[in-house]
Amino acid sequence: MQIEKIYEPQRFEPHWSRWWIEQGIYRASAKAGGRVFSLVIPPPNVTGSLHMGHMLEHTEIDMVIRRHRMLGDNTLWLPGTDHAGIATQMVVERKLAEEGIDRRAMGREAFVERVWQWKRESGDTIKRQMIQIGASCDWSRERFTLDEGLSRAVREVFVRLYQKGLIYRGEYMVNWCPRCLTAISDLEVTHEDSQGSLWHIRYPVNGTDRFLVVATTRPETMLGDTAVAINALDSRYMDLHGRNVQLPLMDREIPIILDDLADPEFGTGVVKVTPAHDPNDFECGKRHNLQQVKVIDEAGHMTAAAGPYAGLDRFEARRRIVADLEKLGLLAKIEPYALSVGKCQRCKTIVEPLVSKQWFVKMKPLAEKAIAAVESKRIEFIPENWTKTYFEWMYNIRDWCVSRQLWWGHRIPAWHCRGCEEVMVAREAPSTCARCGAAGLEQDPDVLDTWFSSGLWPFSTMGWPDQTEDLAVYYPTALLITGFDIIFFWVARMIVMGLEFMNEAPFRQVYIHGLIRDAERQKMSKTKGNVIDPLVVTEQYGTDAVRLALVMGAAPGTDIVLTQERMESTRAFANKIWNAARFLFLNMERSGVEPWFPERRDNEAIPEVYKPQADSGRLTVPLEDRWIFSRLNACAEQVNTAIAQYRFHEAAQVLWQFFWHEFCDWYLELKKLRFEENSGLNSHWRNTLAAFETALRLLHPVMPFLTEELWQRLTPEGAAGRPVSISLAPYPQYSHGAADLNAEREVQVLQDIVGAARDLRADMKLDPKLPLSGILYARGAAHKVGIENAEAIRRLANVKLDFSQDSAPSGGAVRSTHEFDLALEVPMAQTGAHRTRLEKEKEQLAKVIANSRRQLSDEAFMSKAPVRVVDSIRQKLGEYEAQLEKTEAALAGLSK
Ligand SMILES: [Zn+2]
Ligand SMILES: [Zn+2]
Repeated sequence: MQIEKIYEPQRFEPHWSRWWIEQGIYRASAKAGGRVFSLVIPPPNVTGSLHMGHMLEHTEIDMVIRRHRMLGDNTLWLPGTDHAGIATQMVVERKLAEEGIDRRAMGREAFVERVWQWKRESGDTIKRQMIQIGASCDWSRERFTLDEGLSRAVREVFVRLYQKGLIYRGEYMVNWCPRCLTAISDLEVTHEDSQGSLWHIRYPVNGTDRFLVVATTRPETMLGDTAVAINALDSRYMDLHGRNVQLPLMDREIPIILDDLADPEFGTGVVKVTPAHDPNDFECGKRHNLQQVKVIDEAGHMTAAAGPYAGLDRFEARRRIVADLEKLGLLAKIEPYALSVGKCQRCKTIVEPLVSKQWFVKMKPLAEKAIAAVESKRIEFIPENWTKTYFEWMYNIRDWCVSRQLWWGHRIPAWHCRGCEEVMVAREAPSTCARCGAAGLEQDPDVLDTWFSSGLWPFSTMGWPDQTEDLAVYYPTALLITGFDIIFFWVARMIVMGLEFMNEAPFRQVYIHGLIRDAERQKMSKTKGNVIDPLVVTEQYGTDAVRLALVMGAAPGTDIVLTQERMESTRAFANKIWNAARFLFLNMERSGVEPWFPERRDNEAIPEVYKPQADSGRLTVPLEDRWIFSRLNACAEQVNTAIAQYRFHEAAQVLWQFFWHEFCDWYLELKKLRFEENSGLNSHWRNTLAAFETALRLLHPVMPFLTEELWQRLTPEGAAGRPVSISLAPYPQYSHGAADLNAEREVQVLQDIVGAARDLRADMKLDPKLPLSGILYARGAAHKVGIENAEAIRRLANVKLDFSQDSAPSGGAVRSTHEFDLALEVPMAQTGAHRTRLEKEKEQLAKVIANSRRQLSDEAFMSKAPVRVVDSIRQKLGEYEAQLEKTEAALAGLSK
């Protein structure tokens, strides 16, 4: 059997990533029956390309999915992408700008066609990359939020909510981006701390010689004031209630009203009211039936209603207004003021609150069921603390503004009659007005918020509103794995929509993964220049190594630190396994052993050790075989539990420990001896191959490429019961019969003896190649272990042992445990150095013994010290004394 000397994942990863798809391994069948495990992907933006956050998310999902597939479950990972309204529109707009084209000049239809064209050409970048990293999605079920089927689901939901009175059109104060020319949700506004000013402006009170002083951070909005408010409890101004003030610069009279908007404790206790340009004032205006005077338009320019300032940019208007107020002596003072400025998440333009006609979903009635689903634990957040975040948002939920002034997206299924202004919401375009019968209806120009369609994702992707087989089998899904940043945008809305339209929560568990950080624990960002590109490092280290590096640190509730060093070490781990396989394959070839597939395949349990009948009829199972199956068994138990509880880091660490320290460092080293003694498909080979094959299966969900490559070479195609791929082989499970605690104890003793010998050799700075002799005085079972494994000890520690059953060795260099004393001969050349070391050791022991005795005789100390501490000092003193005795004996032995 051939295996290349060097582990080069680039040689085989592309092959398997294609082959798994060609073989239909990822494909789920609703008809197949069985226990179901389904999961929908958080659809990446169609504009996206794979970043480390995706790769972490996809690796975690893939580990869960691959394990379930190997457990024999009917497993579906449903993939797809999101049309990402504003993000995609901006990408294409930028491309057009490079060609000197403006989308408005192009017209809506041509522009949308252009976006589709872009999507066809570049939209599957992320899909190709996901295939490359081994994400085992069922690509035959791939969906796009603007697909015909999903668009039908969107229209259906909109119409049903409208008919239920849960969608309405209303005037509302929205966050408006004057650059993107669209309303954006609260969640798409980023708040930045900024140093601004607080301008105090004098408003003359008509019929008196008094002024009311109001303070504002946005003086340009004063042009749209329609009242000033004072608090009913504020005695300072009670006599002014009922009068008007003269709005400076505009020569308009506006009333003084009583409203809680004015806080007597804050500033002068008087506030200006601008219902068209501030959300709180908007509400106040509704309470008092105030007029809305819109002085800033959608592009951020002053309107005709701004009088002499009409046409100016909003910030230029601010400068002129302040200057003019100053000239008039109406500026009481200017204070520096720290404020939080809302900016458009996409383009960083300062957001302007504007009143406009928008479509809304009434969230309160819908949210009730979604709150109940989490309260009753029908949906569980992991880690649990995210539940609190979810509740905070759901209890304070506001109506959801779902219309966007964009062209790319689901156009709102509403039609306006030009004749009578009737609005009709329908699944298909009506031809005439339902009220006046006029033809020539116009569809609403707005599209729906991207999150409207992704909120339907778990069921729209399975064919809803039709009653499909997929929905019957795969809905609700078992699990959602996603980032904390979209709990509100997406997770909460999926819960709302799933409960409303499917009467069932869309998933049972939501696992929230961490963020990727660099070695300094900084978030990765383009501006910091610390971004690690998954495509670059998978090429460099291999996909499996990067996957493992990501999950090694993926403990629930913590962020993941990813460094080049970590990927180097996980690549070394992959290399270690490769070399182990190479060692096995070379020995198989030398011994004439063929690739072999263990026959016992009726269940997923760890196979039991193969017990050969020796000539004498006595069972002779080598210790290392009993041990490795027992360890494999413990490892299987831990890995299964860890993955099932999303402790991905723990699964990775257990596998690392097993492969590196148990399988490679000990098992294969012990096996080397047997391979030299034996040939042919004897018990040694049988157990070794079964153990390696089982271990590969256990590792497969984390490192799918390496394990498939080795498994395919190790197991002969066409063998009875052999699946076509390791991905379809059973996932190893704990089996009571495979546990062998005696073997584990014995190997522990063996490891301790070899370890002691290696330590002694290192202390004496002796070449590991120099053969030494020694005496082992072992108590109880350790004696038997030593004798039975004398040859292994000779090979692993390069020490030839004699065994004493009567007394501790008195000469040479000694190492002791509670089970044995091991004495190694000290070569003549080392005697002097060894004596010096022993003397130093003796001196140190004498010192710590004196110290301990002093403490124990110190009455002041003894009266205060807790019993536990005193006991521990006594116990240590005993150990030091015993050690001193041994050191003295060793010194005496040296002098002989
Ligand atoms: Zn913007
Ligand atoms: Zn009409």
